[in-house]
Amino acid sequence: KANRKFHPDDSVINVGGALIGGGHFAVMAGPCSVETPEQVIETAIACKEAGATILRGGAFKPRTSPYSFQGMGPEGLELLELAKKETGLPIVSEVMDISQLQYFDNVDMLQIGARNMQNFTLLKEVGKMNKPILLKRGLSATYEEWLMAAEYIMSEGNEQVVLCERGIRTFETKTRNTLDVTAIPMMHELSHLPIIMDPSHAAGMSRMVRPLSLASVGGGADGLMIEVHNDPSKALCDGPQALRPDQFTSLMKEVRALRQAL
Ligand code: PEP
Ligand code: MN
Repeated sequence: KANRKFHPDDSVINVGGALIGGGHFAVMAGPCSVETPEQVIETAIACKEAGATILRGGAFKPRTSPYSFQGMGPEGLELLELAKKETGLPIVSEVMDISQLQYFDNVDMLQIGARNMQNFTLLKEVGKMNKPILLKRGLSATYEEWLMAAEYIMSEGNEQVVLCERGIRTFETKTRNTLDVTAIPMMHELSHLPIIMDPSHAAGMSRMVRPLSLASVGGGADGLMIEVHNDPSKALCDGPQALRPDQFTSLMKEVRALRQAL
């Protein structure tokens, strides 16, 4: 179902009014994790003003260490909904487990994180829902494995899938991951599904977000996911890779200019 051969036209996915794919460009921006009402609302307003089309924020966080901040849980989703009311931006948030799905009624798009890309039980369950799904590429997943994960969702009836390249494991250690820009033309060739790029998790450092974003736009991506925090030094998760609102605002200007030049 994800195969371009049987579906020559680009899919356009509608996330609460924000379109992705077939020439429609989406920018998902916001903090790694929802932390306080002030943090999420202040950041959301800044993202909206800069031109983001979807607000991101994690309430259930897949942290490497069990001793790290695990997210606010259902309360975090409530704050995200509050930020949606304030800004009008649709929201995307990660669901880590089937037991959490009960809290996601008012979330516009469900994110399947890299670590859950092959959680087939979860994929099948969100495949039964009528909500767009953001499917992140696994830490070391091949294109084929990634597309098969999309297939697990689509085979259950939900064809609203957006792919997200967030960097893969390579031999390089200077960066958190390596952004695979080749995924853009390759996935566009193999599939009709939109693909967005996440330079924040790929590099793991804020100064790399601008060049990687511009490379992604130049490479034909259908959108970006960028972590933005009103005060990155105080972030409880992924602070080093978060952009400040002013940095995000200037990046968005460059992204718009580059898209017009294409
Ligand atoms: C995230 O988006 O905050 C996240 C945890 O991403 P990934 O699953 O790509 O690591
Ligand atoms: Mn993060």
